[in-house]
Amino acid sequence: MCLVCDYEQNNKSLEGISFLDCQECKVVKSIPYLENLQKLDCFGCTSLVHIPNLPNLLWLRLTGCVNLQRIPELSILEYLCCAKCVSLKTLPEFPKLQTLYCGGCTNLQTISELSTLQFLHCVKCVSLKTLPEFHQLHTLWCDDCTIQSLPNLPRLERLSCEGCKHLQSLPEFANLQKLSCANTPLQKISSLLCLKELLYRLYKSTKPIKSSKVTNIKV
Ligand SMILES: [Zn+2]
Repeated sequence: MCLVCDYEQNNKSLEGISFLDCQECKVVKSIPYLENLQKLDCFGCTSLVHIPNLPNLLWLRLTGCVNLQRIPELSILEYLCCAKCVSLKTLPEFPKLQTLYCGGCTNLQTISELSTLQFLHCVKCVSLKTLPEFHQLHTLWCDDCTIQSLPNLPRLERLSCEGCKHLQSLPEFANLQKLSCANTPLQKISSLLCLKELLYRLYKSTKPIKSSKVTNIKV
């Protein structure tokens, strides 16, 4: 029995609690309002539909919460994993978010501008058409997405966009060091001035790369 079920059935107090573990609970539908909660783990809570606005939450895991319709705006949240939350259509603004895993959210249509985001894993988000500019993002995993273009990401160091069947060009990423782009129709990158820099950085050597076929670039 998870702590929320124990609280509902046995009136056990949750007051003052900072970590709530409800992993794999198939019956919990909503999380109570807990002012001091910092960490909430709802991995595999397939009945969960509601999370209140928890003012001190820093860490939130919602993997596989297939009935969750929305996530509230959480003002100091730093880590969010909502992978495979197939009912989510949007994500709100999170002013302090640094890490976001939302892979397999097949109905997710938009992600807000997240000014502090450093790491984004959004593979197989097949309803996502664009991404906003993330000024602090250093790592992006967006394999098997249907996005047609990527925004300017000035701090980007690692990009994996394998299997993005509609991605035909990349912006000039001044700091890109690692690029995985197998099975993409990238064409325009070969005409970009940054290509040599990109390849040199990619292989960390002074040897020029003979192949000009961008689909062969792989770290
Ligand atoms: Zn439970």
